[in-house]
Amino acid sequence: MFDNLSYKLDRAFKTLKGTGKITEINVATTVKEIRRALIDADVNYKVAKEVTDKIKEEALGRDVLIAVSPGQLLVKITQEELTQLMGGSKEEISIKGDPAVILISGLQGSGKTTFSGKLGAYLKKQGRQVLLVGCDVYRPAAVEQLKTLGSQIGIEVYAEPGNQNALQIAQNAIEFAKKSGKKTVIIDTAGRLAVDEAMMNEISSLKETLNPSETLFVVDSMTGQDAVNTAKTFDERLDFDGVVLTKLDGDSRGGAAISIRHVVNKPIKFISTGEKMENLDLFYPDRMAQRILG
Ligand code: GDP
Repeated sequence: MFDNLSYKLDRAFKTLKGTGKITEINVATTVKEIRRALIDADVNYKVAKEVTDKIKEEALGRDVLIAVSPGQLLVKITQEELTQLMGGSKEEISIKGDPAVILISGLQGSGKTTFSGKLGAYLKKQGRQVLLVGCDVYRPAAVEQLKTLGSQIGIEVYAEPGNQNALQIAQNAIEFAKKSGKKTVIIDTAGRLAVDEAMMNEISSLKETLNPSETLFVVDSMTGQDAVNTAKTFDERLDFDGVVLTKLDGDSRGGAAISIRHVVNKPIKFISTGEKMENLDLFYPDRMAQRILG
């Protein structure tokens, strides 16, 4: 997914090739190229400017070691700054309570249901007893999809077909989990094609009433700047704990991955890289920065 960005960054660093030292002039040229590459990859303009200003400041402030060329130094600084921009270090989800409730939010089509299954499989592998809950009362197919995933990964799915009250379903599911000894409850909620008031009210009331241990916001990385804007809107209403970036296997330009943490100030916790249940990874900012730099 970062092929284009990696190529452009590499080309930017090459503008320093052959120069013996870092100067105000040659750094300015390279940094401008880096900024352009980031903006082309759909990174928010302000974020791109901030990070490249930092790269420039760092580069001018550091003595170039004899063994390191200006190009190598700039690659290293860029990697450090991108890592910081994406949150610095890995952040885990919180699984507390009996049962621990994990609420999954996001727009329709973002990959919520698929991710709910993946998270269930991931936690089951850690030895947890998981219950998946289908709370998408508007899209019956979503519940069917969750049931199919559940039987594929060997996890029970709680649903109440016909019941239009998501909160009631979730509360009943929690009671069911207590009775059946399931310690972790993953609630897949309804999504709409765009943010709307009814959806926001529903998910906010689920969060307020259920007091989840973790609320995750799932977003399609292919939607670029829109992903960042939707994240902002959801966070204002939901104050979620973490972000799940999906479809990173697609031809997204990567801008969402780079900007979202900085703009929303919430950590990315998982990345999804395909439709299969095993296509789930924890998010490591340093590894992602390395991938971006090719
Ligand atoms: P929901 O409406 O938010 O529950 O979204 P779904 O889980 O139904 O996903 C929408 C579509 O995206 C489905 O066809 C999924 O198979 C697909 N999908 C989900 N995650 C990924 C991913 O990481 N990569 C790819 N390529 N497709 C994905």
